[in-house]
Amino acid sequence: MYVGMQATMLSIPDLITKKRDGNALSDEDIQFFLQAVVENIQEAQTGAMLMAIFTKGMVATETMALTKAMKLSGEVLSWPEEWAGLVVDKHSTGGVGDKVSLVLAPALAACGLKVPMISGRGLCHTGGTLDKLGSIPGFNVDQPLQKLRSILAEVGCVIVGQTVSLVPADRILYALRDATSTVESVPLITGSIISKKAAESLNSLVLDVKFGGSAICKDLASAKALGESLVTVGNNLGMNTRAVFTHMSNPIGRCIGNSVEVIESLETLKGNGPSDLMELVSTLGGVLLVMTGKVSSLSEGVRLITECVTGGAALAKFQAMMVAQGVSNENAQSLCSAQADYHRILRRAAHQTELRTHTQGVVMEIDGLVLAEVLHQLGAGRTNAGDPINHSVGAELLVSLGDSVNKGRPWLRIHFESPALTPDQTSRLEGALTLGGSGDKPLRGSLIEDMIPPM
Ligand code: URA
Repeated sequence: MYVGMQATMLSIPDLITKKRDGNALSDEDIQFFLQAVVENIQEAQTGAMLMAIFTKGMVATETMALTKAMKLSGEVLSWPEEWAGLVVDKHSTGGVGDKVSLVLAPALAACGLKVPMISGRGLCHTGGTLDKLGSIPGFNVDQPLQKLRSILAEVGCVIVGQTVSLVPADRILYALRDATSTVESVPLITGSIISKKAAESLNSLVLDVKFGGSAICKDLASAKALGESLVTVGNNLGMNTRAVFTHMSNPIGRCIGNSVEVIESLETLKGNGPSDLMELVSTLGGVLLVMTGKVSSLSEGVRLITECVTGGAALAKFQAMMVAQGVSNENAQSLCSAQADYHRILRRAAHQTELRTHTQGVVMEIDGLVLAEVLHQLGAGRTNAGDPINHSVGAELLVSLGDSVNKGRPWLRIHFESPALTPDQTSRLEGALTLGGSGDKPLRGSLIEDMIPPM
């Protein structure tokens, strides 16, 4: 697997010592260690190395070697020659109400690109694209490679889970990072994200690096440090990589939770999307269109993606993708029809309740993290990989930032099963809404703060 490795390697404890003492590991050290991780190493040794990397960090060359070795720990996908330059994907560092992939993948396919979106399930407060799609009866996110290729050839986009053969080192390291409290490390996050994207053999990748109260990166500076590492290593591995830095405090759009986010995505694909979601979709898509040479400027790319979404071309691709991935023709057609009765197909939670404002004022902020944490407790999310979730649990915002509201106005609808919300959960949700005085205006304008631009 790792050609040209020296026979005279340091032992695993020596490698741990080297990193523990703050020295840079060589490419050979990292390849040797990663091979041992996949083959025969003690979990305690992997955990100790993860902690050494977490505390001492890695220089750029080490992060590149780590990412490359992770990529080569398993299968690397290949695509037909005629798709050269066209194979693209987007990765988000995770947010609340983030359903961008469901709209963006079919929009890019409608623009003639190939989008093999290999996504994840949600963990803790952030939702996962695969869980959202799991609320559509029949949608199969486990597709064999041959089928994945044929869906890409016919439709242009496919959204699936990771196969067992792709980057096995990441599965081992990710589980141990969770167990050893070493998740928040720039080199380890970089290795984990970029190795999986590089194993997809993408031509171009755009990263949505989020920052704010509901994101992993709490401020722009830490988002930039992560984004620059991701972009540098992605480009170094031969994948054209760029990043967009976006605000993540208030939820994206109006729905949070799996099946309600599918409904909001379908409405967006019918031209009725909220402006913040459309801004993210059109900007991230526009960047990819510039990167692949489909357009010559970002504004042209933004316009083309917007036309594909509002004009119905992306909806047609989403419908075709659903059918190709196992949804019945009748259900796919019905979900994509203009007057869809969504809950005939997507299960509705047994109960709904609305929270009302306690005073009048202007909606200044809605704390996405609090909403996501309470929904997680109500069953919408999972704490441990593999835990079951309830796709029907979710929330709909009934107000927007900047709205003037009277006392007693419903502002949040919660979809829940039994048991009912506890008084503590209700009071946490109530605290998520910040109202200002009549002259106040919320700060939020564009969600896009900055980018490492496509040209
Ligand atoms: N997503 C990943 O795939 N890996 C990380 O380390 C963080 C986010």
